[in-house]
Amino acid sequence: MNYIDEFRNGEIAKKLVTDLEKSAHKVNRPITLMEVCGSHTMAIYRHGIKELVPQNIKLVSGPGCPVCVTPVGYIDAAIEIARRDNVIITTFGDMMRVPGTKSSLQAERGMGEDVRVVYSPVDAIEIAQNNKTAEIVFLGVGFETTAPTSAVAILTAERESVKNFSVLMACKTMPEPMIALMAGELKIDGYICPAHVSAIIGEAGYKPVVNKKAVPCVITGFEPLDILRGLRMLTDQVAEGRAQVENEYFRVVTPEGNRKAQDLLNTVYVKTDAVWRGLGKIPNSGFAISPAYEKFDAAKRFKVTVPEPKENPACVCGEILRGLKDPLDCPLFAKACDPENPIGACMVSSEGTCAAEYRYGNWRHNDA
Ligand code: SF4
Repeated sequence: MNYIDEFRNGEIAKKLVTDLEKSAHKVNRPITLMEVCGSHTMAIYRHGIKELVPQNIKLVSGPGCPVCVTPVGYIDAAIEIARRDNVIITTFGDMMRVPGTKSSLQAERGMGEDVRVVYSPVDAIEIAQNNKTAEIVFLGVGFETTAPTSAVAILTAERESVKNFSVLMACKTMPEPMIALMAGELKIDGYICPAHVSAIIGEAGYKPVVNKKAVPCVITGFEPLDILRGLRMLTDQVAEGRAQVENEYFRVVTPEGNRKAQDLLNTVYVKTDAVWRGLGKIPNSGFAISPAYEKFDAAKRFKVTVPEPKENPACVCGEILRGLKDPLDCPLFAKACDPENPIGACMVSSEGTCAAEYRYGNWRHNDA
């Protein structure tokens, strides 16, 4: 079987849609399924999956885009460090335009601060080795998928005695917000579990979600047939009154996950409470640099304090990240806010829900 047949075959897609309709019909009530992965958000919009699902299934996006869930206060702290003398901030490109309370990293660079885009935290180590009189700070943002790369950079800095390198850590962990959201205003009937995160934490990572909240969880790949299969598996669970962790993406994700990456995470970090944009503080949902490596902790090295952060009150990113609103519910969408001039993080990030709707959604037809 070739790639197209395996993952994008139209006949198989039609059969899956028919099966999904049968399963949804058995439930005979509205079903809300949430994806918590920015790459799934993009794939669902790009492949028109929302238009394929039965009418009683609503697909909503949750807090799966790492840039989107990074709170304003973190951006403000990064800017505060960038403004100090002799500091080079290094970051992934998506973070550059995320608005802080009054500025962004891109605006700061425009005003002369040294902010550089890197493709890996290990690149930041190289910058540190080539700029020994400067302090190099890497912005550690992401989930269990990117956190190991920052851990490798910290271990490299330790091994090679790179003293002018540190990480401003804001990496988060996925299962905890899935549990927290179950106590929110939206009734969620099932989760499409994030594929990349699952490759690290394995099927076992979602056991707490199922055990504590009795909500179906299906680990799903990114291809259209993966997503349709995952939706059918979730809807089958809802129809049959089951709540289990199932794995559609078994060609990549194992029951126990990536033990080597997990060891790295456990070596360099400790779990901590974390603040999520739109969701607030969630207990035990983030990584902090462990005491053994605290000399690489930029928050401790620079002792940053920032005033109370403020979000643009017109932006509804927070509600979008909780699945309560769609981008089209925002009066600024495609008017004051678009990818060229983003007002909120959900439009800035290439994995944000507003950016996905802008790029692939039907809003232009709706306006016609
Ligand atoms: S369209 Fe822009 S302003 Fe509106 S919610 Fe999305 S990012 Fe925020």
